[in-house]
Amino acid sequence: MPHSESRARARAEAKIVAIQQTIATMQYLASGTLLKRTKVCGNPACRCAHDPTARHGPYYEWSYLKAGRLHHRSLTPKQAELMRQAIANYRRTKKLLRAWEVQTQKLIELNAPE
Ligand SMILES: [Zn+2]
Repeated sequence: MPHSESRARARAEAKIVAIQQTIATMQYLASGTLLKRTKVCGNPACRCAHDPTARHGPYYEWSYLKAGRLHHRSLTPKQAELMRQAIANYRRTKKLLRAWEVQTQKLIELNAPE
């Protein structure tokens, strides 16, 4: 095996280890999207009827796919904060999985050439 190939293999292996270590640091993971909304209550005497900054809320809603169907769930502000992190982790993990695939392809070509 030429030296450059063993270097390429070591590089791909190191990248995979780095991906695994990054994924291992994550705890919360969720797909879907988080929506922050404010509402008008409908009472014409309420400040929210005329002042956009006096609208009620914020209310948080998490939308996610389950078995191909879209579901919605309202969250408390604290839950929304954690969900925001979980969704960020999910998106980051998806990118890392794609990078893992790329490195796997390189390793397969290096370890089992045609
Ligand atoms: Zn109101």
